[in-house]
Amino acid sequence: MPTELLFYGQIASVVIFLGALFAVYRSLAAQKDATIQALKEQLELLKLQLANAQAQTPDIAVDLLSKRVKSISDELARLNQDNLASAEQIQGKERDLESAKSEMAALRAQIARAEQLFSEFSCPKCKAPMLTRNYHYECVEYGGREIDVDHEVVVYSCGLELVDGEEATPCGSR
Ligand SMILES: [Zn+2]
Repeated sequence: MPTELLFYGQIASVVIFLGALFAVYRSLAAQKDATIQALKEQLELLKLQLANAQAQTPDIAVDLLSKRVKSISDELARLNQDNLASAEQIQGKERDLESAKSEMAALRAQIARAEQLFSEFSCPKCKAPMLTRNYHYECVEYGGREIDVDHEVVVYSCGLELVDGEEATPCGSR
């Protein structure tokens, strides 16, 4: 019975081949799920950062980035539905998300810098803008000698006047 043996041998090899194929498919599917899960987590983080950024400054750049994050999110949802989505496609989305993330980081740095600049030039109580920053020189007697002392005088539009950082006239916002 060599023909019969050959036949069973062929069936066995086909079964082994199919089993191997299935194992490869399972591991690929698991990899894809893990990647999608990681992307979802990144996306959640990004959304959180975005919400913070929007709360701080209603900026066009933030708005544009928000739309981009949404489109990546939609695309990712579509990939998740599509069982034929390739690893390359998912990696491509991952890269998109990475670049959106780094743009977000740059934007947040800009916002932080703008806020810092804003706080330097606005009333610490009511955020009214600074009107003038002048230096006044004063002649004072010290130890029998006359010396020049310079004072920094900062005036804000709300009426607050700071002399050397000390409140000389209070903020009129209240
Ligand atoms: Zn003020």
